[in-house]
Amino acid sequence: MQYPVYLQLSGTENVYAIQGPDRFWECTPLGAQTLCHDVLATTWPERQRILDMVADDGPWERIDRAAFEAQWNKGNCNMESTAIPLDVLEHVELAQYTTFGIEAKARWFAEVTSVDGLRAALDWSRSHGVEVFVLGGGSNMLLHGDVEALVLRIQIRGVEVRSDDGRHVEVAVGAGEVWHDFVMHTLDQGWGGLENLSLIPGSVGASPMQNIGAYGVEIRDHFAWLDAVRISDGSLQRFMAEDCAFGYRESVFKREEKGKWILVRVAFHLDRESPLRMGYGAIEQELQHIPEAERTHRDVSEAVIRIRQSKLPDPAQIGNAGSFFKNPTIPAKQAEALLATHPNMPNYPQPSGEVKLAAGWLIEQAGWKGHNRATHGVHDRQALVLVHFGGATGKEVWDLAQDVMKSVKAQFGVSLEPEVNQVGLQD
Ligand SMILES: Cc1cc2nc3c(=O)[nH]c(=O)nc-3n(C[C@H](O)[C@H](O)[C@H](O)COP(=O)(O)OP(=O)(O)OC[C@H]3O[C@@H](n4cnc5c(N)ncnc54)[C@H](O)[C@@H]3O)c2cc1C
Repeated sequence: MQYPVYLQLSGTENVYAIQGPDRFWECTPLGAQTLCHDVLATTWPERQRILDMVADDGPWERIDRAAFEAQWNKGNCNMESTAIPLDVLEHVELAQYTTFGIEAKARWFAEVTSVDGLRAALDWSRSHGVEVFVLGGGSNMLLHGDVEALVLRIQIRGVEVRSDDGRHVEVAVGAGEVWHDFVMHTLDQGWGGLENLSLIPGSVGASPMQNIGAYGVEIRDHFAWLDAVRISDGSLQRFMAEDCAFGYRESVFKREEKGKWILVRVAFHLDRESPLRMGYGAIEQELQHIPEAERTHRDVSEAVIRIRQSKLPDPAQIGNAGSFFKNPTIPAKQAEALLATHPNMPNYPQPSGEVKLAAGWLIEQAGWKGHNRATHGVHDRQALVLVHFGGATGKEVWDLAQDVMKSVKAQFGVSLEPEVNQVGLQD
C-alpha cells in the first residue's frame, strides 16, 4: 500500500490521513471547532482501526490530499506542526563514520533517532527525488567515492525485555545500539547466547544484514524477529527468522530485498543457562586456567575479546573493515585435488557435501600477508584483513582487493568474494 492514504468517513466531515500501518492523522469537526490528532497506533485497538479504515468494505471513502488539507487547515494545527524536525546537512565527511576511515562525502546527511524521524527522512528523500543510503557503524563498507544520496545514520536506541520466564528472555533492541555494548549488557544481566560475538564492531541494526558470526556462533542462532521500515512507503513490517533466509554472511536483505528496507529493531532469544561454546578457535585454551564447571558466559566473552585483540587490527589504530573476503566454499572434488598438493590446507566439510576453505590461509599462501602499498595494504597478522594507513582512496583499496582475488584464483583456482559492502563501485 502506498502511504499516505486520505479518507473521509461517509456522511460526515471527518477526514483521515493514514501515514502507515501504525500512524494516522485524524481531523474531526466539533461544533464550531475542528480537532486534529496525530495518532500513533502501535497497539490494538488503534492498529485495528487502521486496518478497518483501509479495508475496501468499510464506510470510509478515498479522497485526495487537497480535500484532506482543506478540512485539516480549518483546525488549529497544520501539517507542519506534526512534522518531525529533520536536520539535513550537506557535504558531510564520512571518514569519521566508517572504520576504514577513507575520505568520501555524503551529499546529504541526517541522523535518525526514531521510526517517525526515519519516515520524515524518507518523505524528504522522496520529495527531493534523492536516494537514501543507510549507515550503521560503518564497519562493513568500503566507500568508492562521494555518496550522492541522503545518508541516514541510524541512531534508534533502546533495549526492551519483551518476556522473561526466569530463564529464557526475549529482548528487543533499537537498531542504533552499538552491538558490543549490547552484548556486554546481556552479560551484565546474566543472559547467555551472544558471548562468542563479543567485540564485533557495528550496530545492532546491521547484525542481521550479514548474519554476523564469530567463534562458532551466528546471530541466527539467537534471532527472534526484526522490524523494518520499507523505504518506498514508510510502512513497518516484522520479519521472522524464516523470512530472513539467513546463510553464511548472508540474509534476504543482501539479496532479494536489498536496498528495500531499513531495520529499526531486532529481537533475540537469550537463555541464562545456555551452554558455553568453547570448541572454536583458541577459546578452550584461553580458559584452561578456569575449572570447566566454574566457567561462565562472561569468561567466554573475555576469552573471545583477548583472542580478537591479539589477532585483529583495532580500527581506532588502523583503518579496516574486518575480514575483507568471505571464506569460499568449493566442490568436494576440487577440495580433494587441492589437498593432494597442499595437505596442510585448512578445510571444513559442509553438510551440503561441499568444503569450506579459509580465505586468510589462501591469501597468505599466495604471498600477500603484510603486503604494503604505503597508504594501504594487507594486514601483517591476518591476511584476510585489508588495512588503510591513511591517504588511500576506496578505488585503490579495491584495486588491491582485485589483485588479491586474481592471484588466489590463479594459484588455487578458487574465486574469492568480498564480505565488505562496496559502496559506489563503478562497473
Ligand atoms: C575489526 C573488525 C572485525 C569484524 N569482525 C567481524 C566478525 O567477527 N563477524 C562478522 O560477521 N563481522 C565482522 N565485522 C564486520 C562488521 O563489524 C559487521 O558486519 C557489522 O554487523 C557491521 O555493522 P555496521 O553497523 O558497522 O554496518 P555498516 O557498515 O554501517 O553497514 C553494513 C551494511 O548494512 C547496511 N545497514 C546498516 N545498518 C542498517 C539498517 N539499520 N538497516 C538496513 N541496512 C543497514 C548498510 O547500508 C551496509 O550495506 C568486523 C569488522 C571490523 C572492522
